[in-house]
Amino acid sequence: MKKNQNQKIKTFYTEKQVCFDSIQDQSFSQSPLKPFLLMNRIKSSEFGSAFDIVDDFSPFKREDFLSAHTEEYIDNVFNKTGNYDSNSLPWSENLVESLTYTNTSIYNAMRHAYLNPSDLCFAPISGMHHAMPNSGSGFCTFSGQVIASLKLYQEFGAVGAWFDLDGHFGNSIEDTRSFNPLVDKAIPKHCNVNPRGYEETYVSNFEQHLDFIGEKIKRGEVHYVVFAHGADSHIDDDLGGYCNTKNWVKCAELFAKWVNVISDEIGRPLPVTLTLFGGYRKANYDAVLDLHIQSLKTCWEIIEGKQEDERNAA
Ligand SMILES: [Zn+2]
Repeated sequence: MKKNQNQKIKTFYTEKQVCFDSIQDQSFSQSPLKPFLLMNRIKSSEFGSAFDIVDDFSPFKREDFLSAHTEEYIDNVFNKTGNYDSNSLPWSENLVESLTYTNTSIYNAMRHAYLNPSDLCFAPISGMHHAMPNSGSGFCTFSGQVIASLKLYQEFGAVGAWFDLDGHFGNSIEDTRSFNPLVDKAIPKHCNVNPRGYEETYVSNFEQHLDFIGEKIKRGEVHYVVFAHGADSHIDDDLGGYCNTKNWVKCAELFAKWVNVISDEIGRPLPVTLTLFGGYRKANYDAVLDLHIQSLKTCWEIIEGKQEDERNAA
């Protein structure tokens, strides 16, 4: 299987999706800075040429958040009132502006992947998956992944599955089901995948989920997938974790190989978006970034290598 240096990772990144204010010195979570830190580290590596950056996407407006949040909570975050700090991040105008872009980074990446399935898409953003309709939680402010999936369902009737390999359960999708019943259509039950167990058990649990979602895709019940490979599922993360490096990277490998098998079986490329989610190491944040880079590289080499083989065969 050959690498294809020409087929780049379509990356939805602008510095506007980064919060620079008060994060480094006043925040336990470095996540609002992570898109910037990661893209810089990638740029200075050999892997930098594999990324095709799209930076001209628009931010969400307040009303875009209404599909997953109450008007009161949205106003609180924008105006620094009420429970604006329920995300446990230091509030700043910069933070609020960056949120309107992180949420459209994932939306635009998923939309592009759906419309151009031969492009592997990437949204360099951290977790959103703990936010709830009426509050933030665990460094997450808005449920960008729910909002993006709802938009894709409303625009195209597209149904998605989320492989959420963050070290923490992605409650946003489940907690928004009763707030907006359309979530059941956009991300059906059992399509919010959060593997369980430790080491090999975690990996084999993930494989079972891949099989399950694969069958749904073949039946035409799921049309796109998102792989959120949180680095806090690594055993050395400050907030716990489940897998050593070998098993953590194995998950990316299994996912990418599965994408190729499923694409063959349905006779077209499966729309895929990659994203980051969590990762916390006070003593060595570069280790978090390097895990993300390893996962991206693994996915890119396997998925794009496959696509080149297909073109050569045609
Ligand atoms: Zn997490």
